[in-house]
Amino acid sequence: MKSTLASPASTERSGENSGVPFFDQSETFRRIWPEIRGHCSRVLDDGKFSHGSMVAEFERALERYTGARHAVGVNSGTDALVLLLRAAGLRPGDEVIVPAHTFVATATAVVHAGGVPVFADIEEHGYGIDPDAVAAAVTDRTRMVMPVHLFDRLADMVGVRRVADAHGLTVVEDSAEAIGMRSGGTHAGLLGTGGVLSFFPAKTLGAVGDAGALLTDDDAVAETARMLRHHGRSGRTLAAFPGISNPTVVTGGNSKMDDLQAAVLLAKLAHLDADIERRAVLSRRYDDRLRGLPGVRAVPGDLPVRPGENRVVYVHLVQVDDRDGLAARLAAAGIGTEVYYPRPLHLQPCFAHLGYRPGDLPRAEELCRTALALPLYPDLAEEAVDRVCDEIERHYSGRSR
Ligand SMILES: *Cc1c(COP(=O)(O)O)cnc(C)c1O
Repeated sequence: MKSTLASPASTERSGENSGVPFFDQSETFRRIWPEIRGHCSRVLDDGKFSHGSMVAEFERALERYTGARHAVGVNSGTDALVLLLRAAGLRPGDEVIVPAHTFVATATAVVHAGGVPVFADIEEHGYGIDPDAVAAAVTDRTRMVMPVHLFDRLADMVGVRRVADAHGLTVVEDSAEAIGMRSGGTHAGLLGTGGVLSFFPAKTLGAVGDAGALLTDDDAVAETARMLRHHGRSGRTLAAFPGISNPTVVTGGNSKMDDLQAAVLLAKLAHLDADIERRAVLSRRYDDRLRGLPGVRAVPGDLPVRPGENRVVYVHLVQVDDRDGLAARLAAAGIGTEVYYPRPLHLQPCFAHLGYRPGDLPRAEELCRTALALPLYPDLAEEAVDRVCDEIERHYSGRSR
């Protein structure tokens, strides 16, 4: 049985030469199904599928796991970013400096929150925004900087905060991929004014549909975000607050998390640390096999990690020569891969009006040409990792079998 997220190339195969899907969690669901069913049954018995108590229960569990003063459950990581930017005080026309190499939602969220994204290049040995590039991008309209923690590690938060402090910028984190990542014991998303988590199914902690959360230690940011996710109100109906003459204090929308998603997430959160450990084991196995191979430019375990920080491998990203050739070869062998990200954001059509040109942000552009994500998830077998590595070795040694 394959999840619907298995790559198409891999779904037809079975047995000895079975393929390796890019992502699959059917075994996880089989194993923890009793716990998931238990939490879901409570939601079904309660009959409150939206604005019920399960979201609040999951939020408290997430606060315990992350150490956040506030976790606010929402319907996606993307909406969490929009709410975070608005709650942190972004005003129309404000500029927000973001990395050019990231998922598109980092920058579209800025637009949806009324701001203007300004792109900065990434650091030389890593995937995060380059603090010097942030400093160079500051104008008198800059209000915030939004570093992104990608794949398996934090961005340079010490460097980013130094630049932000010097220019009076608010730091908000796109920590959508960063559950479990910490710096000096502080969880990602709590290293500035606030951050987000995405529970998209393929993320380290995945729901069975879309869901996300906002993390913050700031009471006012949390309070505003809770209102924004629910039509700008602080209660279920206007009538529930007869003493408040004008309960609509902000123009909100509907960004609420479903209680059934919260039920699944609550069950999976109990296994998160074991999942993270399993990911680390598999990631090290890839590194040990691929390190130093001709054609392989960098394995993630060899990139520098800053003191006091841990790695959580959400995506195992290798940097290789002939990336598209390798991806095609692996696809032909039934092995799923992904390109994160095929095009840097400053060259995306939706930002063409901002006037960037190819060559403007060379490190981001180079990573888009060389990076390939290999299958990595707790259900993946060691033998599957070996099969992927065998195929990569054959590709660069010019052998067909
Ligand atoms: C997944 C992701 C998002 C968006 O989260 P969704 O839950 O899919 O909306 C935003 N930023 C980054 C870096 C992501 O990886």
